[in-house]
Parts: sequence; C-alpha cells; structure tokens
Amino acid sequence: MKFAIVSKGDERSNKIQATMKQYLTDFNLEYNETNPDLVISVGGDGTFLEAFHKYIHCLESTAFIGVHTGHLGFYADWVPSEVEKLIIEIAKTPFQIVEYPLLEVTIRGKDGGEEDRFLALNEATIKTAEGSVVFDVEIKGSHFETFRGDGLCISTPSGSTAYNKALGGGIIHPSIEAIQLTEMASINNRVFRTIGSPLILPKHHTCMLKPLGNERTFIIALDHFSKNYANVKSIQCRVAKEQVRFARFRPFPFWDRVRDSFVADEVE
Ligand code: NAP
Ligand code: MN
Repeated sequence: MKFAIVSKGDERSNKIQATMKQYLTDFNLEYNETNPDLVISVGGDGTFLEAFHKYIHCLESTAFIGVHTGHLGFYADWVPSEVEKLIIEIAKTPFQIVEYPLLEVTIRGKDGGEEDRFLALNEATIKTAEGSVVFDVEIKGSHFETFRGDGLCISTPSGSTAYNKALGGGIIHPSIEAIQLTEMASINNRVFRTIGSPLILPKHHTCMLKPLGNERTFIIALDHFSKNYANVKSIQCRVAKEQVRFARFRPFPFWDRVRDSFVADEVE
C-alpha cells in the first residue's frame, strides 16, 4: 500500500508527519506522493481540505484520514496521542471505507467558452465585492425565487457544520446525499422576496443560479480557496457523482463529533 502525508506545516504537525512516515515505512508501506492509496492529513480541518484538493484527481482510488494537532476537527478526528495505534491499524490493511457526498459546481460564462467544473468537500459560496448579488434561482429547471443579498452558500452534508452552520443552516448527517442552500443577508421587501429558510436538495435536484442586472464580478469560494469570475451566465450546483472516501479504523459517530465540537463542556 502507498501512502502520503500532508502536514499543516507547523512544528508539531511536521513532527507527527515525520514519525508516521518513518513507522509506516518500517512496516513496509511505500511513501508515494503521486499515487497514494491513503492520504493522511496532519493539522486541522483546513489541512484536510487542502489534502482533499491536492488529491482530487484520484478520489476513486484514494482514502483519507485526518489527525488533528489543534482542536478536534470534523475531518481531522484522531488525536496525536493515538498516532501509534493508528499506525498499527494502517499497517494491518485492508481497512474499512466510509463515503461522504460532495458538491459539484459548474460555472458557465456568457461567451459560451469552456465551463469550469469544481468539487467541494465543505461548500461553495458566491459573493461579490460590488454591492449585492442578484440571481434568479432555479431548482430542477423551474424558477424558484429571485435572490438579492450578500450571497449564497451551498454546502455538503459534511460541510454543514462549517460555514453553513454559521448561516443558520441545519446539520445534515453525511449518509444523506444532499446539498443545502443557505442565504447570506437576503433583501426582502415588496420587490425582492426569498424563502428565507435553508433549502435541502436531494440528488438530481440541480440548483442553477443565473445572475441578473448589472454586470458583476463574483467571488466564488470553494472550500478554502476562492476565484473571481466576470461575465457569468450560470452557476450550477448539485450532488456530485464523485464521493470522498474516508479510511475508518474505529467508530466515531458523526453526532458524537457534533456534540464534542459544539455542545460538550469538557474539551481535550
Ligand atoms: P479557517 O478560517 O481556518 O476555517 C474556519 C473554521 O472552520 C476553522 O475552525 C476550521 O477548522 C473550521 N472547519 C472547516 N471545515 C469544517 C467542517 N466541515 N465542520 C466544522 N468546522 C469546519 O479556514 P480553513 O481552515 O481554510 O477552512 C475553510 C472553511 O472555513 C470553509 O470551507 C468554510 O466552511 C469555513 N468558513 C467559515 C466561515 C464562518 O463560519 N463564518 C466563514 C468563512 C469560511 P480548523 O481550525 O481545524 O481548520
Ligand atoms: Mn483552518
């Protein structure tokens, strides 16, 4: 089995990276950054997002696991003190795989040129630096509403505890193949009216955002990176065909992670 390790880059994470690399190589596993079967992220959820995007071209054959060197993460849920146990578990391959849904975003331009297609593990957000965004929102080909406001967030179930939660979105269990659309400060008056509540769309219910009015440059963020787009004709969002695969060595139920991150008093 081939493995790679992505570190947050701080001293503590680099040390754990070095230890894991050494021990796993001693167990005759091959360190291979180009074509790994297992990617170990050491840092935080942000590091995990980086690792995911680094290996996004080989999601079908790669499994991910996260060790956190800061606070408990949603993707990085192994503590440094468990690293030795984890190394032994990894060396004992094969391991169990758990799959989570991803968001697919397709951006099409007015010039009809090439479209840009992205996958997100947490979410996509669409904002502008030029006042508010105005979109026609279509769901499954039907006009749903005309949105005007700061922006929209479209999140995956595993991303529902991130930005989506800060916007008042619901927490969705990642076994549910869905995406969630939440509003950022929608303008509601006699002219503009939006639903106000987060919308949860199942697989195959594509959501299409079509910019209206003045030509704006959009800031489209996907997980931890963002890009500017001018002359946007449409932004299409749906549950992706692809999934992310996690290597699972012990049960750590999603709701336990939610409780430990947001509700429980005792922090490690
Ligand atoms: P960051 O500014 O460090 O991320 C903000 C926080 O979100 C960090 O504490 C991060 O954990 C945590 N986080 C990331 N994914 C999560 C998840 N699935 N569930 C719960 N918490 C999660 O930037 P970053 O580390 O590059 O992460 C990018 C993410 O930040 C975006 O995908 C977006 O979800 C989130 N974000 C949130 C807000 C907000 O809540 N208002 C605003 C902008 C962006 P770590 O410290 O372990 O990295
Ligand atoms: Mn971070």
